[in-house]
Amino acid sequence: MLNIDLHCHSNVSDGVLPPAEVVARAAANGVHALALTDHDDVAGIAAAQVAADAAGLTLIPGVEISVSWGGQTVHIVGLRIDPKHSGLAAGLKDIRLGRIERARRMLDIRLGRIERARRMGDDLARSGIAGAYEGAYDFAVNKEMVGRTHFARWLVAQGHAPDMRTAFKRYLTRGNPGYVEHEWTSLENAVGWIRASGGMAVIAHPGRYAFNARELHLLLDAFRALGGEGIEVITGSHHPSEYGKFADLARAFGLKASRGADFHAPGEGIDIGRLPALPHYCQPVWQGWPELAAHLSLSLA
Ligand code: AMP
Ligand code: MN
Ligand code: MN
Ligand code: MN
Repeated sequence: MLNIDLHCHSNVSDGVLPPAEVVARAAANGVHALALTDHDDVAGIAAAQVAADAAGLTLIPGVEISVSWGGQTVHIVGLRIDPKHSGLAAGLKDIRLGRIERARRMLDIRLGRIERARRMGDDLARSGIAGAYEGAYDFAVNKEMVGRTHFARWLVAQGHAPDMRTAFKRYLTRGNPGYVEHEWTSLENAVGWIRASGGMAVIAHPGRYAFNARELHLLLDAFRALGGEGIEVITGSHHPSEYGKFADLARAFGLKASRGADFHAPGEGIDIGRLPALPHYCQPVWQGWPELAAHLSLSLA
């Protein structure tokens, strides 16, 4: 069986390894084909391609686009995109400019709430959360991509939270002091840019969204109507008990199924390629991709 992992991050977004090291790690883990899917940027793909050629691994150019839909943030993965496509590049650039503004607003909101919390005698808030923006900025290699993961890593490093999960839960999710509402791009734009550049659009980690069943179905219908083709079934963000539900949804909505660890850093979550196979009744997103033929003939030999 081919080990295909179609979702991971480098330090071009909120991963910690440079693109070439992500590819080397994938090869070491026995991955045959890897999609690098950094958030809102394709700047890592060229270096990843060089490393993939050296390692004999097939690189699928990818991206993970931040979208606002139905009052929530939804991530759309683009696979087999052309990173040089001007429409896609311009759209992603716009998202990154919005990100910079959001990161600055995170700081302001923190300070406002911290003042209030200080008056209420909150020890946690007293312990020096000012400087979060500068801290997160330092953690980000790509200064256009300062995001919540960088804030979380800084909060953990400073001892404000014992681990990333707690940092998100306490500070960086809706209703907490470091969360600011942000309008990302539209579902229509994201799917449109991916398709215009020759790629396939896939809904990332559907189990992570706080939609009810009706809302999730509306999302899948809207996505299909725009030309979206796939949905992640096996991902590091899904509990194994959820795999069947999303495999069934994929089938019911005529979507192909994808598999990806959503790797960010060694020791954070699931490692590249270390996931179960897709359920046998799923139609994989990679079915018929000619770049996989070489691996297939090798594995049949
Ligand atoms: P951003 O795009 O800057 O809002 O950050 C979103 C990223 O934060 C996701 O891609 C994940 O890498 C990370 N993330 C979101 N929620 C959590 C969580 N509960 N625990 C750990 N990481 C999270
Ligand atoms: Mn991320
Ligand atoms: Mn995501
Ligand atoms: Mn991701």
